[in-house]
Amino acid sequence: MVREDIKSFLSTIPNNVTVVAASKYADANDIRTLYDAGITNFGENRVDAFLEKYDSLQSLKLSWHFIGHLQRNKAHKVINKIDCLHSLDSLLLAEKINVLRETPLDCFIEVSVNNEESKNGVKMECVLNSVKECLKYEKIHLVGLMMMAVKNAASDSLDEQFEKLHLLRNEIEEKLHISLPYLSMGMSDDYLIALKHHATHIRLGRILFK
Ligand SMILES: *Cc1c(COP(=O)(O)O)cnc(C)c1O
Repeated sequence: MVREDIKSFLSTIPNNVTVVAASKYADANDIRTLYDAGITNFGENRVDAFLEKYDSLQSLKLSWHFIGHLQRNKAHKVINKIDCLHSLDSLLLAEKINVLRETPLDCFIEVSVNNEESKNGVKMECVLNSVKECLKYEKIHLVGLMMMAVKNAASDSLDEQFEKLHLLRNEIEEKLHISLPYLSMGMSDDYLIALKHHATHIRLGRILFK
């Protein structure tokens, strides 16, 4: 169920920040309720769940973001239906998208800020090169960087993690003379900290529900 005070909750979020509702907790009805409250950007993690929701909600003017790990062998099922990919995490996936996609796709490179082997995402020291390589693909339109912070980290550690991504973005813009305007970071537990570090897109799940 969507929280009853959803509109007043949303009014606490700065106007220039895009709320992407993580729809893994939402069914089609919840999505309609969120849409009526003013959310138009939805992010799904899984291909099958995405396709189901996409089909049943065709009548709404939604922007669909894909925010979970996208397997290369499933990319063809979603790649021409989404408006934005937050989880571009390998050059092989970029290459695949370049073949499959009909028009340039807004993409965030997902960065493994803590270089955790277990996590998806490009390692900090490889991001500059990945951006460079992606610039060669005409169907990849890079708009920024994305990260997931370590769960339950202390707030000074979260500050550090989000600031790393912010500084990395600035460094890449300077070195490559390009613009990467967006930072997709911050979830229900940590979005207020992410906003201090210039998040432009916050991906909210549990906090939208009760
Ligand atoms: C589920 C999910 C979110 C939202 O998580 P909450 O903690 O419920 O806000 C954000 N990003 C991704 C990639 C997710 O899978």
